[in-house]
Amino acid sequence: MNSQGAGAARPALGVVVAALWVLAGGCSEEPAPPGSPLRPNLLMISVDTLRADHVSAYGHDRPTTPAIDALAEEGVLFENAYSHAPVTSVSHMSLLTSLQPEAHGVSMWTDVATSRLSESIPTLATVLREHGYQTAARTAGGYMAGLFGFDQGFSAFHETYELEQAVDESLEELRSLAKGSERPFFYFLHTFAVHAPYTPEEPYRGMFADPAYSGSILSDRDALVREAGPKWAARNRAYWKRVEPDDPADLQHLRDLYDAGIRRTDDQLARFLRELERSGLLKHTLIVFLSDHGDEFMEHGQFLHKQLYQELLHVPLVIRFAGDRGERFRGRREDALVRLIDVFPTVLDAAGLPIPDHLQGVSLLPLLEGEAAPPEVLMSSWSKRELESLRLGDWKLVVGPEGAELYDLARDPLERTDLSGREPARVAEMKASLAERVDASRRFLGHARRGVPVEPDPATRQRLRALGYVD
Ligand SMILES: [Zn+2]
Repeated sequence: MNSQGAGAARPALGVVVAALWVLAGGCSEEPAPPGSPLRPNLLMISVDTLRADHVSAYGHDRPTTPAIDALAEEGVLFENAYSHAPVTSVSHMSLLTSLQPEAHGVSMWTDVATSRLSESIPTLATVLREHGYQTAARTAGGYMAGLFGFDQGFSAFHETYELEQAVDESLEELRSLAKGSERPFFYFLHTFAVHAPYTPEEPYRGMFADPAYSGSILSDRDALVREAGPKWAARNRAYWKRVEPDDPADLQHLRDLYDAGIRRTDDQLARFLRELERSGLLKHTLIVFLSDHGDEFMEHGQFLHKQLYQELLHVPLVIRFAGDRGERFRGRREDALVRLIDVFPTVLDAAGLPIPDHLQGVSLLPLLEGEAAPPEVLMSSWSKRELESLRLGDWKLVVGPEGAELYDLARDPLERTDLSGREPARVAEMKASLAERVDASRRFLGHARRGVPVEPDPATRQRLRALGYVD
């Protein structure tokens, strides 16, 4: 167990393991081993763009997430869980490969092309399938489309944009998986239901938005379509054109609408979990709930998610363990710094499966058992904007084209005061450490074979337009 996690000492071994994996045919289908009834099922739910501080269980003062709160009461809530990128494909790929963005190599959309995950890199689904799991995923498509490699290791992979429909289809699929086989399942459900533009329907809008709001934001989806036409990119542009960034009433209204979308999503998840419970599918099932990154409301001068500040990297992470461990860890709140790359090894560990050596994350079970120190190192980046950050304990360095910023998160959790001018030695030291870690990850990717550029199909491009990234 390497307490440095994303440290520089791993890649040589990682390269060997990745290469061996390919030689051994690690990514191909092979007959499932005899049934392993003691292995838990795994249900992983990702609500895209959900910042931790808008979840009630994380201290939000509004009832946005009763279902997630209830899940947290049955499991472990990680108070300080962080993402490796403020953007969807990159962050989720780190989650599903336990590799830093520089090591898995899946970059964010550049309007026409990006890269697919190298087939030589095993995903969580690949590994679980090798150990006899039935694997299936349903994402909302777009940046979570199979063509980026998100389908790697899943025997069934579907893209469903609307959450209600995704829940219905997932329920049906899970019931048929459980009925057809004694083998455990790994099911991954992803949704963009809280993503901008925020146009939650009633009754949710009325539950959170001020009826006296008199600004010009158009939060009714149908009205927006009437104004801007059915094309998503146009609708998104029209939405943001009406927002006055300097008007506190508009900022509050955006937050209200965001909250309304979260509550609507939570209600769907409540229905999903309730139906699964009723079908007996949550028995001996490990549930992971998380998000890939947050959203910003001008805390650092911008909207959406394009930077590396805390509001974008701090994500909810709840793990409800199965069996005895589930009972022992029930209702626990863990405040150590943990990362999305730690989920993959934690899940394998909890299933009693070996953890591949090349993973950059660490199992969180020793931390929960009081046998190991937390990782305490976090690296995040977004290559499109040439942004990188390194967190060592409470110190956080952000490096970009305009220079470096340094924050002491213990004293300044909202990153208001840049200390880089006052602490040049610390900045230099952290910059060197960051560069070394990034290099190590890139060397890993060099060996794993860089993914090939892919062209999106028309349906994928259309979904990307829905999210406002592509015209
Ligand atoms: Zn996302």
